[in-house]
Amino acid sequence: MYYSRYFLPTLKETPSEAEINSHRLMLRAGMIRKLTAGIYSYLPFGLTALRKVENIVREEMNRAGAQEVLLPTVQPAELWQASGRWERYGKELLRFKDRHERFYCMGPTHEEVITDLVRKEVRSYRDLPLNLYQIQTKFRDEIRPRFGLMRSREFIMKDGYSFDIDDRNAEKTYWQMYDVYKNIFTRCDLDFKVVEAETGTIGGSFSHEFMVLAEVGEDTIVFCQNCDYAANIEKAEVVTPAISPSERPKSRKEIHTPNKHTVEEITEFLNVSPQKIVKTIIYLADEKPVAVLVRGDHDINEIKLQRLLDCKTLIMAPPGIVKNLTKAEVGFAGPIGLNIPIIADNSLKNMVNFVTGANKTDYHFINVNLDDFKISQFADVRFITSEDRCPRCRGELEFKKGIEVGHIFKLGTKYSEALKATYLDAQGKEQFIIMGCYGIGIGRTLAAIIEQHHDENGIIFPLSIAPFQIYLLAIDTKNQKVLETAEKLYGQLSSHWQVFYDNRDERPGIKFKDADLIGIPLRITLGRDLKKEKVEVKIRKTGETLLIPITELKLNIE
Ligand code: ATP
Ligand code: MG
Ligand code: MG
Ligand code: MG
Repeated sequence: MYYSRYFLPTLKETPSEAEINSHRLMLRAGMIRKLTAGIYSYLPFGLTALRKVENIVREEMNRAGAQEVLLPTVQPAELWQASGRWERYGKELLRFKDRHERFYCMGPTHEEVITDLVRKEVRSYRDLPLNLYQIQTKFRDEIRPRFGLMRSREFIMKDGYSFDIDDRNAEKTYWQMYDVYKNIFTRCDLDFKVVEAETGTIGGSFSHEFMVLAEVGEDTIVFCQNCDYAANIEKAEVVTPAISPSERPKSRKEIHTPNKHTVEEITEFLNVSPQKIVKTIIYLADEKPVAVLVRGDHDINEIKLQRLLDCKTLIMAPPGIVKNLTKAEVGFAGPIGLNIPIIADNSLKNMVNFVTGANKTDYHFINVNLDDFKISQFADVRFITSEDRCPRCRGELEFKKGIEVGHIFKLGTKYSEALKATYLDAQGKEQFIIMGCYGIGIGRTLAAIIEQHHDENGIIFPLSIAPFQIYLLAIDTKNQKVLETAEKLYGQLSSHWQVFYDNRDERPGIKFKDADLIGIPLRITLGRDLKKEKVEVKIRKTGETLLIPITELKLNIE
């Protein structure tokens, strides 16, 4: 590829819209451009890198026997009503009507559609197992799109779905996908950890997330120094009580109203779509709930407050005590009318007697008024903190930030029951198909790769992801000998490698800067030493340079 013909609008200045390195660099290296909030165009250089990630995913999925399909992005409401998610998914689901006044949504995920497809085609156990995946555009109307491709509204996801005849087989598939994911992220040269995870709105019985370690990660993961315990703190529960018995308010006790509710029912009751509640902590004092901790992109009327807080969590706290909440996961809704935002840390322990909203219906949550908050059960769970020990081996815990690039779920029969996806077993008896689902954010993975592979001068692409492997740089493009040699070399190298040839009539400084910025692993410069039939080879990652006689230019790059 000739730079002079390539659509690669690089930027010298750091774009002000970008807060993190990967986002900045993807804009500066001419990979993406923003159309509107959370919606991006991919330019040739960015798209090529994206395709590299996709192809790794595709190769590993195919190798495991999964088959690629392509499902529609526009999905009819009826399917979502049948699964119950039309109501529960909340505002992340973009809904609209067609000319016949029928409702549709832009697919944020495809459990319903794939289950519908499979239920119509699968008759007997002989048709199973099936493992189908697609690489396709998703839309989620994220409350806070940010960090470029990291959290966008329109994004490319690989989503896979497995269908097995029983639990044993479904689990086998799950662990197979677990290994596939490890291979994928290893091939992407990512430093990642696999952690136990919550199942969120997707639902199901158990799940793992693949977390790329990075300070800018929006998730907090906890792992043991001693054993292999690792979890998203959303999932990590402590074995010790949230408040030690001696510290508990005297009147605090479990309340049983006529209907005893589970935590799940409480979240239902709160109707905090899209049900991203992962833990509900309800402290009770004087037989009234004193604090409710929720997490997520709920349908609250205080979106602004949440933005201000830059937090995932909102606490609604009538008079009482809020304790032991983990830093950065917590925000505090101040007294009504005051809206005093407080970014919480463990000093929340010292915060007592705060009053917050929701004594007006619909104030925080649709349909919820704290006065009729007849919560029945005290849920004695809380996020793990640095003061805790490993729940498995009591070893010391470490906390790190992570970017969720992949997420796998064992779904069980959640969707097959809701949508009646069944098969006839060997005895001719009708059984529900056992499902699993497996997602990877393609754009987010690319962003995570750049987040882990860059320096102050630009991107440092791993060889497996680099859109080109060689940056061929001719310094003096007016010199006939330079041009001739460059053309010849370009031809030779191109039979083995994807070569990016900087043939522009620009100052050398500009070319070197662009080469560093776009991060192609190897740079071959035709400069002064060409007189001695030598070229300079620079390894982007290490900065090492070597002078090599053209005749000895080896075509294999490590
Ligand atoms: P998050 O917790 O970051 O909102 P999620 O748990 O909602 O992600 P899943 O439903 O598990 O996401 O989707 C599978 C994968 O899709 C995620 O692991 C992530 O890599 C990717 N993904 C999800 N939301 C986005 C987004 N808004 N932008 C880019 N990638 C995303
Ligand atoms: Mg999400
Ligand atoms: Mg998540
Ligand atoms: Mg997830």
